[in-house]
Amino acid sequence: MTQSQPILVFDLDDTLFNELDYARSGLQTVAGKIADEVGVKENELTEIFFNALAESRSNIFNRVFDEIGVDNNALIKKCIAMYRTHKPSIELYPEASKCLQRFASWRKFIVTDGNSTAQNSKIVALNLRDNVEHAYITYRYGHKYTKPSPHCFNLIAKRTKQQPQNIIYIGDNPTKDFVGIRPLGFGTIRVLTGQHKDINLTPKHAADVSIPDLSHLTADFIAEYQKNRA
Ligand SMILES: [Mg+2]
Repeated sequence: MTQSQPILVFDLDDTLFNELDYARSGLQTVAGKIADEVGVKENELTEIFFNALAESRSNIFNRVFDEIGVDNNALIKKCIAMYRTHKPSIELYPEASKCLQRFASWRKFIVTDGNSTAQNSKIVALNLRDNVEHAYITYRYGHKYTKPSPHCFNLIAKRTKQQPQNIIYIGDNPTKDFVGIRPLGFGTIRVLTGQHKDINLTPKHAADVSIPDLSHLTADFIAEYQKNRA
C-alpha cells in the first residue's frame, strides 16, 4: 500500500490560499510606508491601490503614481522591493488546511512559480515548511524551468524514485499548470479556486479532472482517479 501511495504535489497561489490576499497585504504595507512621502493619507492610498488592483495587476505602482501625480521612478522601484519583501498577512484556504491535515502521512511537495523572495515569504507565512517535504520555487532553478516546464516535477520523480504516473499535481491555472506535465504521465487535478477558475483553454491545457475545491480531494477520490487512469 505504502509503495503505491501517490505523491501529492500542490501549487501554491490560488490553490492553497487566495493570492489576492497576498496582493492586498503587500499593497497595504507599501501604502503605510510611502503615504507620508507621497503626501496621501495611508487609508486613502490603500483604497487607491485596491481600486487599481481590482482593474489589473500590471504596472500597478506606475498607474497609481500617475493617478496621484507623483513622478518618482526610484520610489516605484522601492515599492516593488517593499512589496516582494513584505511579511504577508495571509491564511490557507480552510479547505486547504484540512486537506493537508487529511494527507498528513502522505509525501507532499509544492511546485510554485513567482519571485523567489515573495514565494518564500508566502510559504513561511502559511507555515507550509512543516507540512510538505520540500517546496520547489521554480525560479531558483532558472527562468526556463518555470511552469509549464516539467523540470521540478522530474526532480520530484527522481527524489522519490516514483514514476510520473504515481505523482499527482494539484493546481488552479490551466495556462501553465498541466500542459507541460500531463503528456509525460503525471497526474493532474484542477481546483476551481482563485483568479483563474473561470478560464478554459484548449483540451491540451486541461487537467485530467477538476474539483470545486480541496475539500473534494480525499484518499477515496485519489484511489478512484488512479484506478480510472491505469
Ligand atoms: Mg496557482
